[in-house]
Order: sequence, then C-alpha cells, then structure tokens
Amino acid sequence: DGEELEGKPSRFHALMMFTKVNKSLNLQQKFRVTMRSVAKHGRFLEDEVLVLHYVSDAGSQELGKKMLPELLLGATFQYEVVFHDVGALTEKLFPIIEAMQKHFSAGSGTYYSDAIFFLSVAMHRIMPTELKRIVQLDLDLKFRSNIRDLFQEFNRFPAEAVIGIAHEMQPVYRHTFWQYRKENPKSHVGDPPPDGLPGFNSGVMLLNLDAMRHSTLYNQLLEPERMAHLAEKYHFRGHLGDQDFFTMIGMEHRELFYPLSCGWNRQLCTWWREHGYGDVFQLYYRCDGPVHIYHGNCNTPIPND
Ligand code: UDP
Ligand code: MN
Repeated sequence: DGEELEGKPSRFHALMMFTKVNKSLNLQQKFRVTMRSVAKHGRFLEDEVLVLHYVSDAGSQELGKKMLPELLLGATFQYEVVFHDVGALTEKLFPIIEAMQKHFSAGSGTYYSDAIFFLSVAMHRIMPTELKRIVQLDLDLKFRSNIRDLFQEFNRFPAEAVIGIAHEMQPVYRHTFWQYRKENPKSHVGDPPPDGLPGFNSGVMLLNLDAMRHSTLYNQLLEPERMAHLAEKYHFRGHLGDQDFFTMIGMEHRELFYPLSCGWNRQLCTWWREHGYGDVFQLYYRCDGPVHIYHGNCNTPIPND
C-alpha cells in the first residue's frame, strides 16, 4: 500500500457519504453529475492515484459498483474505489460523538443512526494512521476545475490549522447565533465576510487527519464538558451535524481552520433569502473570483456551463 513520501503524495483520498442512494433517483442524478465532473476535469501525474471512498449501505454499494465504471469512463487518471460499511463506521463513531449530538442534531435525544453525520469530526480517530489527509465531498457538487488542485490547498494551511473549509454562504448562523449577537453587539459572530464570521459549510472539507490527531486543542474540544461549555456560552442549538460543530468551535478558535475560498464550494441555496433575511442575504451569498466547484445545496439546480 504505497503511502506518502515526504511532502509528495501519490495517493489522493476523497470520501463521500453514499447511503440510501438506491432509494433515491434524485440522489443518483446528483451522483452522476458529481462523478462525471470529477472525471472530466481531473488531471493527475502518471504515478498518482485518486482513491474514492464511499460510506454506504449494502444496497447503495451494489448500485455504486454498477454505476461508477461508466461515470468515470472518460477519466485520464488512475483511480481506486473503496466502500466502507456505514454500520461499521457508526459503531466506532458513536461513543466519540454521542455527547455532541444533543447540541448539533435535530430532536433532543441521541440517535444512533445520526452519528454518521459527525464522521468528519472524528475521522482522525476512525481511519488508519497511514491515512494522513482526506477530502470529504458532498454528492450534490459539480466540478469545473481539477480536483487535484483542491488537494493543493492542504499546502496552504497555516501551522495551527487542522481543517480547510469554506464559509457558509447564507445567513443561517446569523439566525442561530441570534441571542449571542444580541448580548454581544460588538462581536463579529454570524456577521458576513470579509470581516465577519458567517460559519462554515460542510459540502467540501479538507481534513488534515495528521494535524487533527496531533492537535491538543482540537481533541480537547471533542470532550463533552468543553463542548457543553461552548454551547452554553454561544447559546448554540443546531441540527446540521458536523458543520454546526465546526462553526461553533471556529467562533472560539479561528486558527484551527483554513478558510477555503468561496469558489471551492460555491453554494447555490437561497432558502434564507425568502425567510426573513432578504435584506442581508447578498452580503453572505456573493462570491467573487472563479468558481471551481458548484454546490447545489437544498436541491438547487446547478447552472449548465
Ligand atoms: N447523503 C446520502 N444519502 C442521503 C442524503 C444525503 O448519502 O439520503 C449524503 C450525500 O453525500 C449528500 C450529503 O449527504 O451530498 C449531504 O446532503 P445534501 O448534500 O443533500 O445536503 P445539503 O448540501 O443540501 O445541505
Ligand atoms: Mn450538499
């Protein structure tokens, strides 16, 4: 299993959640768009391999194995496909993230089946230590650039950063942090870019697993007491899983995150424009510069260009 030489990776790991795909034509269509665009724009060196990891159930795995060869037919690079059983990963994950669920999951209890929405948060404890870096991607994406260029962003992480992630492009966290913002009118929590802290979107994430393993701070923040303390301080109650967790700890410890430019996760959802935030919406939604990846979140159609 050829792993990384110092500073020169030959295997590029990308992971996608891939569950209940056999039950949804909608998700299958998104999956086609995502994978065809990866194949179309992907360029790698001769000795390099793109390793595609899918976290799936039995039915989705069967479908994925059938669909992938055709979707990646046009690829000019080497690739490998690895399926991970969602049940086996959930079993490892649950004890680590159980205490987190009450702050960042819908409902009030801890639901075993929802644990997988926190995979990115504890990926460094789940995946083998040979795996140093991994990119986690949604399946409602469309690449317009080479996925290899996304991996190059790891090289731009400042010393303390463990995760690369783009800003959330709707005022959803302006809403979530409503009470904190009222009590702290001078804070930038929930404000729009470039000076504010709008929170993060989990559609495209660079997880430096090595850095996550070695960061004392990051691992302290996974402890239930630390988390409860922060959730109380910020009056935080969310339901978006990992992106809520990263958003909340990012308010307190910005240095843990390398902010990916908006073009690497150009989200298209406009739900909050119509739900009370029309006046400030554009401040969050605007994205200058090239779009490398479109993200058709909340089922938003992706432009055909
Ligand atoms: N997903 C999945 N099965 C599902 C729903 C979602 O595997 O039934 C995965 C898929 O990778 C998807 C990701 O979870 O891209 C996040 O969901 P989605 O993109 O629909 O959320 P949004 O970006 O709209 O918030
Ligand atoms: Mn998405």
